[in-house]
Amino acid sequence: MAKTMAVNAGSSSLKFQLLDMPAEQVMAQGVIERIGMDDAIVTIKYGVETNQGTHLADQSADGSNVTVSQDGQMHKYENVLPIKDHQQAINFMLQKLTDLGIIADFSEITGVGHRVVAGGEWFNHSVLVTKSVLEKIDRLADYAPLHNPANAMGIRAFQKLLPDAISVAVFDTSFHQTMPEENYLYALPYEYYTRYGARKYGAHGTSHRYVAGRAAEMLGQPLADLKLITLHLGAGASITAVKDGKSLDTSMGFTPLAGVAMATRSGDVDPSLIYYIQEHEGLSNEEMLTILNKKSGLLGLSTISSDMRDLLEVSETNDHARLAVKVFVNRIVKYIGQYIAEMGGVDALVFTAGIGENSAPIRQMIIDKLAYFGVTLDATANQTRGQEIEISDQNSRVKALLVPTNEELMIARDVERFK
Ligand code: AMP
Repeated sequence: MAKTMAVNAGSSSLKFQLLDMPAEQVMAQGVIERIGMDDAIVTIKYGVETNQGTHLADQSADGSNVTVSQDGQMHKYENVLPIKDHQQAINFMLQKLTDLGIIADFSEITGVGHRVVAGGEWFNHSVLVTKSVLEKIDRLADYAPLHNPANAMGIRAFQKLLPDAISVAVFDTSFHQTMPEENYLYALPYEYYTRYGARKYGAHGTSHRYVAGRAAEMLGQPLADLKLITLHLGAGASITAVKDGKSLDTSMGFTPLAGVAMATRSGDVDPSLIYYIQEHEGLSNEEMLTILNKKSGLLGLSTISSDMRDLLEVSETNDHARLAVKVFVNRIVKYIGQYIAEMGGVDALVFTAGIGENSAPIRQMIIDKLAYFGVTLDATANQTRGQEIEISDQNSRVKALLVPTNEELMIARDVERFK
């Protein structure tokens, strides 16, 4: 049976999902964390997802554990061991998938799809990885220094271990390559665009593309006829105006720091304020970038936590937590208003990612502020978590939908097109 691996390689971690294609059935998924350390953690889940409790089924001499759900459907393998690099991590994972009987041997995996963060202007769709594609991914490291080198490392390691499998790169930015120049250009001297590619690229493209497609199916209308606003609200958050099935505008910018407030990222800030703070605090460029990326957003404003769950829990009594939530919601509402104006209307708002899929209060706060545009909520449907559903009521002129994202499936489908 032909299997496809969807891979998201980070600098010290590797997430994967093994799918049976074209059946689109998830065979296994997992993550290897702390690659490069003596105590790397390998987690592999396989079987059927279940809500039941688990019990320990097996504890091996090598320190690994396998737990099984009460109904025996879901297995979870966990191990802590030294793993020196991505190559070793992938080799261990593939060997484990074989030992656990999930694959008979490595050759069953006939395609590997890799998430690549930055595709610049070179890639407006997913591509088969060739030598020249890999060189371009390397060269785009300037645009995503933390991500592209790790993504490229993942590609090379898989190519060595699975030389006969096809390798496909799926870029976070490619969906947004349809933006018109009035939306992707900054009002800076034009030569910076031609010299450095200084423009808006956006991010989360695979997620926006997936949920837009699902939304069209739920609405029973062709995607090409719809005006959608897709809201990917997770630790990283971005909003996209999808018109005629294409990204017309998106909130993230040259990097994923721009746009709405996020868990630890600031989102949009007047650039001269950054210079002002640097001068007064004596901060280097690198230190300032760290503050904007890691110490701002919900964490910076609340001073308590970057996790929306923590903030909502105490927002009744804690002013800082309440303020952070208000800023988060308000920025999103502003982008929605802007995109309604840009598209000349909207048919549906589509909520996804950690906060978008799970937080009824945040969805409600956003929708309550949009009554003017004719969006009204079905309070009962809005209590749903992590499952496709319409959350607007019958009278709502604009639909609101909850669509759990599935970037891995999108990656596997892209691989399938090249098989
Ligand atoms: P993601 O980046 O898509 O994995 O989303 C992660 C974020 O989702 C976390 O940092 C939480 O803030 C948020 N999240 C997850 N579950 C909930 C929930 N039930 N209510 C509010 N926020 C949630």
